[in-house]
Amino acid sequence: MLPKKIIEIRVSKALYRSKLPDLDYSLNPYQGCSFGCVYCYAIHFTGIEEAANNWGEVVAVKVNLVEVLRREVMHTTKKGVVGVSTITDPYMPIEARYSLTRRSIELLLAYRFRVSIQTKSPLVLRDLDMLRTHRDKVDVGMTITTMDPSLARVIEPRAPHPLARARALKKISDSLIYTWIFLGPIIPGLNDSEEHIEGVIGAASESNSLVIFDLLNIYDRTWSYMKERLDRDEVTKIYRVVRYGSKGYWSRIKSLVLKLCTKYGVMCIDFHLSDPFETNSWPSIRKAGYIGRGGGSQKRLF
Ligand code: SF4
Repeated sequence: MLPKKIIEIRVSKALYRSKLPDLDYSLNPYQGCSFGCVYCYAIHFTGIEEAANNWGEVVAVKVNLVEVLRREVMHTTKKGVVGVSTITDPYMPIEARYSLTRRSIELLLAYRFRVSIQTKSPLVLRDLDMLRTHRDKVDVGMTITTMDPSLARVIEPRAPHPLARARALKKISDSLIYTWIFLGPIIPGLNDSEEHIEGVIGAASESNSLVIFDLLNIYDRTWSYMKERLDRDEVTKIYRVVRYGSKGYWSRIKSLVLKLCTKYGVMCIDFHLSDPFETNSWPSIRKAGYIGRGGGSQKRLF
């Protein structure tokens, strides 16, 4: 579904230096996101007031992005890994109309950058031809917080069905492209049960994907949005655990994730312990270019 309002904007910069340990640059073709997830941290960072105040309903499109990116990649000597996107989803429905994500990735690959895609949308399959051709320079991550469609409908109201995401990821992995699942955020009292986590890790096992997991990070604007959409008891519990900490909560969740990953033979990484200097860490694997040597091979890498 397209957002209620589309704003076309012009930008003077396309690539930004990334502070994430596994990425050198970030590229975000859109600001605002029509999937409207209740936990979205992008509300806080979007930079477009109208989109932040009407989260999920207003999306800004960087109409001159590809032209600006072309100038930048021609003059950037340091090639590296570009995260597409790091703030809003690069394959929300509006991408079918503007193709900014596809055209940007095409350009990045032509100029020998590596590309790491993160999305919740099977629309990424539209670009499978291009990704397959450059599989040695690409990895694709799908965010899946639960396989339960009724919970997904509450916390990610306009995002694609979790099963559609899992099936898309399997197709990508079957094309020998390196795949991963972002199991995050894990939200206290909502998707932190064994059943929810096992569903996602089972999907990772089927698509032979790595799992990166993370707890909820809360920013002020996200709280306000969450409070409007969830029931009061749920929000109180989330607030207590996330804001003030709850003794042993995160280590219990980590043990549960690791137990299930072992059961399914899936490699799991705690997002916050992803050390770029450790040889077997996800950032170093991605940066060293071990990705893409066959999507089905990641279990053996670790
Ligand atoms: S898909 Fe990502 S960017 Fe979009 S609303 Fe959900 S969490 Fe935010």
